[in-house]
Amino acid sequence: MQYRIDSKTGNKISILGFGCMRLPSNLGQINIEKTEALFLKAIKEGVNYFDTAYIYPGSEAALGQILDKNNLRNSVYIATKLPIMMCKKFEDFDRIFNKELERLKTDYIDYYFMHMVTSPAQWQLLCDLGIEKWIEEKKASGQIKQVGFSFHGKKDDFTALVDLYNWDFCQIQYNYMNINYQAGRDGLRYAYEKGMPIFIMEPLLGGRLADGVPEKAVNVMKGTKPELSKVGWALNWLWNQPEVTMVLSGMNEMSHLEENLSLADHATVGMWGEAEEKIFSQVEAIFNEAYKVPCTGCNYCMPCPQNINIPGCFTAYNTSFAIKKSTGLNQYMINTGAMTQTPAFASNCVSCGKCEKHCPQNIEIIKELKNVKKRLEPVWLKPVMSVARKVMR
Ligand code: SF4
Ligand code: SF4
Repeated sequence: MQYRIDSKTGNKISILGFGCMRLPSNLGQINIEKTEALFLKAIKEGVNYFDTAYIYPGSEAALGQILDKNNLRNSVYIATKLPIMMCKKFEDFDRIFNKELERLKTDYIDYYFMHMVTSPAQWQLLCDLGIEKWIEEKKASGQIKQVGFSFHGKKDDFTALVDLYNWDFCQIQYNYMNINYQAGRDGLRYAYEKGMPIFIMEPLLGGRLADGVPEKAVNVMKGTKPELSKVGWALNWLWNQPEVTMVLSGMNEMSHLEENLSLADHATVGMWGEAEEKIFSQVEAIFNEAYKVPCTGCNYCMPCPQNINIPGCFTAYNTSFAIKKSTGLNQYMINTGAMTQTPAFASNCVSCGKCEKHCPQNIEIIKELKNVKKRLEPVWLKPVMSVARKVMR
């Protein structure tokens, strides 16, 4: 494993961090045995940064349980997050934070985030509730070592936020498809010049840069470096940049972890130059042509009161362009439960708007679901499904 230095503290952080948003699970329950095997292997190979959050179901508790059982708390940095949307008064900070300590079976957090800050105005709301005083107290008591923010918003808001507070670090969504999206490359460089360590989330764009690369783009990559996997292209692109401190990856299969560990052993700053940048420009153009909705499948918009599987609808919709219309339609039938007694199609949306305010990608969900309906709900779909359901009853 290679390490980069957190420029504010001198901490040596593994360039590969373990993202715990999507841990292995069975029927919605985290599979502790499988997760433990992954965590232990990662730690043995030098991964020393684990990222979780209050709102990732079961994730903090699973991480706490496994680290505690194996006596590994002090071998890793724990990062977790304050769900700022759930904070309405000063007392909420302690209530949530104490719960996090309890779940994580620890008495301190190494990297504590303001989760999903999108603008200076949102930070101001927290300041009005007294967050600065609270952070000061927590740092003084040693319960929080470093404070930062994870960001989903516009570039100008990002740079403004960087300047608004004496942050210890920040985390941005960044990958070769998001060079000019959200904080983007300009934001990354801005924060770096201010001396901040920068952690990267969504390096694979919710898995799309691993499993959803259009064939045409795969051919472009293979034609240049046949030995390198799609994940290798995406992660090496990030590690090539000196401004990147650490890249988070959600690894829920041992093969994913092993591949990432091997890549992290060999990646170096400056290993790629202009020739590879040109390849990425071509790949980006192919992607933009193929993918219509930039959904990463984070599930923050869920649950929908109409039971619509919003990310599932968008996955199917994107597949119908990137792969084949019929493949997208098949996915749509599965993701909407078309054959079940209670299907929830995109057209079931009642435009209540509950979902949109939670989307870190600022997707106009209501409008896009109408596009999904147009493409994936041919006139025959509902009558045929209705007959099929009666037959199956
Ligand atoms: S706007 Fe539509 S998709 Fe969003 S929560 Fe409401 S019903 Fe569900
Ligand atoms: S629509 Fe937005 S909030 Fe919902 S899963 Fe996709 S990216 Fe996440």
